Amino acid sequence: MKILQKGFNYSQDGPGNRLVYHLQGCNFACKWCSNADSIPRENPNAKEYDVKEIFDEIMRSRMMFFDGGGVTFTGGEVCVQAEELLELLKLLKENGIHTAIETNGSFESLRSVAEYVDYLIVDMKHYDESEHKKWVGASNKSVKDNLEYFFLIGRQIHIRIPVINGVNNDPRGFADYFKGFDTSNAVFEFLAYHEYGKDKWQGKYEIENGFISPEVIKKFRDTFENFGLKTVVT
Ligand code: SF4
Repeated sequence: MKILQKGFNYSQDGPGNRLVYHLQGCNFACKWCSNADSIPRENPNAKEYDVKEIFDEIMRSRMMFFDGGGVTFTGGEVCVQAEELLELLKLLKENGIHTAIETNGSFESLRSVAEYVDYLIVDMKHYDESEHKKWVGASNKSVKDNLEYFFLIGRQIHIRIPVINGVNNDPRGFADYFKGFDTSNAVFEFLAYHEYGKDKWQGKYEIENGFISPEVIKKFRDTFENFGLKTVVT
């Protein structure tokens, strides 16, 4: 597996203290991506490991998985390496390790990967297909197909919406989409735009005035709650 970086964080990408692996490669190209160096499939800074090496490292780290913690795989897009990821997840499940993934939700393989994941985080960038294409460089159809599948089977799911001024700061459009489904096992989180990864774009960064106020995040939360959609803060 190609891993760009790894390290511990607490409670941001799943419960408790977690060992987080950033996998190299993504099929989207979000203009605000804070990990732009994780987008290409090849990156000289990414290291190649076999599944067993990562598994052994995780097992050696298990003392650190306190407060219900475990391992999180994020990216890039984790399903770019779905085959190896699935093999690793199966091993972790057999050994009782709590697993989480954060995914852009666009790969069909996500459905089989998710069967071996304890905590599923799916990003939703835009409800409108043409806007999604404009800002992300790809259709949102496969993301919606997967979300609707997870709603249908009643899967626990944590949906993250990055809120960016001038891109997707209308909560009503999102809520109108989600209200059409049984989201009783879903929670929604809104992430305010930031520019921590801007330097990684090496001068090609296109988002201008993307910052949003706390009032906009509150408006998202209020709008969703009014539609009966559960919101969370991490
Ligand atoms: S899906 Fe995530 S990793 Fe991929 S380009 Fe978008 S923000 Fe970056």
